[in-house]
Amino acid sequence: MKNPDKRFIEESFPVKEVSNESAREKNIRHGHISTLHIWWARRPLASSRATNYAALIPVPEDVVERDIKRAFIAELAKWENSLNPTIIEKARKDILKVNNGKPPKVLDPFAGGGAIPLEALRLGCETYASDLNPVAVLILKCTLEYPQKFGKPVKRPVQDKANKEQSIIAQCSEQKEKEYELVENPLLEDVKHWGEWVLREAKKEIGKFYPVEEDGSIPVGYIWARTIPCQNPTCGASVPLMRQFWLAKKKNKKVALYLCAENNTKTVTFKIVGDGYDNMPDDFSPQKGTVSRAIAVCPLCGSVI
Ligand SMILES: [Zn+2]
Repeated sequence: MKNPDKRFIEESFPVKEVSNESAREKNIRHGHISTLHIWWARRPLASSRATNYAALIPVPEDVVERDIKRAFIAELAKWENSLNPTIIEKARKDILKVNNGKPPKVLDPFAGGGAIPLEALRLGCETYASDLNPVAVLILKCTLEYPQKFGKPVKRPVQDKANKEQSIIAQCSEQKEKEYELVENPLLEDVKHWGEWVLREAKKEIGKFYPVEEDGSIPVGYIWARTIPCQNPTCGASVPLMRQFWLAKKKNKKVALYLCAENNTKTVTFKIVGDGYDNMPDDFSPQKGTVSRAIAVCPLCGSVI
């Protein structure tokens, strides 16, 4: 007997087209939820949207109609169409039509990075998502819930920038005499505002560990190495133990630390060499550090330690 509730995905699916779109999506950063927070094995939005849709609509009896649907799913999967009102509206209507005009309920109990529920929401479904991992739950809240709750235009009291933190707290009790302004996306504004606040507070607390260099640049990190004294009595230099000197070893960018031995002062200094810096000396091999298999070589006198 024929199954009257047979879904499209059970019969056909444009696997190749959707796979291509899913692979292409990996290179898209701007506007993609993958930039919100890292999540392992996050499903591509292209395949999530396409499979959601194909699992929610019935398979047409007519072969031509089926091919048209297949082509539509391939279009729906495209990143460029994720905000295309004509295509998304059509997908939503198709889903509503086969569900007596009521948005179907979609539950993703192990939603992880949220690709499937996000696409279910986009297709107009009543969507539920859960996960055991609290990090995933936070990602889900930030992806699915907060933009809808706090991302809509709202009128808020005009705030004195300097006292913004205090005034947000105080605004509930002092709303009467304040001037109001329309904030298009309060969530965006707040993330920016509090992000800057975190940066300011972090600078206050740990900024002193990152003093400005002579050329005005601010270090973003430090490379730390153990040192041992050279055992040669006429040398006694402090030898940094480093396996190698690479800082960047990409195809198009090679940068390394170059160790300069100052024989007069029996000290070592470093400079950065490579692409974008001073040229890498010809005889310099960043692969070769000062230590290998527990044997260190003093860069000043050549003694083996
Ligand atoms: Zn030495």
